[in-house]
Amino acid sequence: MSDRPDLKQALGRLLGPAAPEIGCDACFEQLDRYVELELAGQDADATLPGLRPHLDGCPACREEHESLRALVGGEQAL
Ligand SMILES: [Zn+2]
Repeated sequence: MSDRPDLKQALGRLLGPAAPEIGCDACFEQLDRYVELELAGQDADATLPGLRPHLDGCPACREEHESLRALVGGEQAL
C-alpha cells in the first residue's frame, strides 16, 4: 500500500503544506483506536491528532476508516 514513497512525496508537494499529517502506515496503526474513540463518543481528533487530516486527504485510508467504522459499529450494535 505504501510502497510508492515517490508518489507519496509528489502528492504531498501537490497538496502543499497543511496541518502536520501522518503517513498511511501510522494512520493504519492508529485507525482501530481512532474508530473506537469515535464510537465511544470521545474526542478522537484530540487523542490522535493528524489522523483526520490524513483521512481527508487520503481516499484509501478514508475508505478503510469507513469500513472499519461499519465493522466495529456493527459489532457493538449486536
Ligand atoms: Zn493514507
